[in-house]
Amino acid sequence: MPQKSPAHDKNEQFKKILLKSKEDIVHDIKNMAAVNSADNKDKGGDVSGHAMHIADVATDMYDREFSLGLASNERELLNRIDAALKRIAEKTYGLCVVCKKAILAARLKALPYVETCVKCQEDIENKKR
Ligand SMILES: [Zn+2]
Repeated sequence: MPQKSPAHDKNEQFKKILLKSKEDIVHDIKNMAAVNSADNKDKGGDVSGHAMHIADVATDMYDREFSLGLASNERELLNRIDAALKRIAEKTYGLCVVCKKAILAARLKALPYVETCVKCQEDIENKKR
């Protein structure tokens, strides 16, 4: 691989990672939506036919709510990925949005869409409590 500008290459790398995770999440959300609607069709007749199976129905509802919750988490993740892609375009990627200092490369590798450095993240978490 040619090494022109290391900083630029790194951003390109993260951009690829972010775009890939975005694709995966969109794919997951679509899959979940498909499973949920297939479920509704399937179980519609089943539930009315076996009205006494309350435990089964409750489990189904729990599963559905769980998937919906997951979908909303993934949507939030999508927003964060989009925000990170925007920061790459604006050349502010890798900088903490709070203190503007560089975020550790290891942290970016683990969480490419992360917005804050460890210290500011801790401050935010502490405020939540
Ligand atoms: Zn910070």
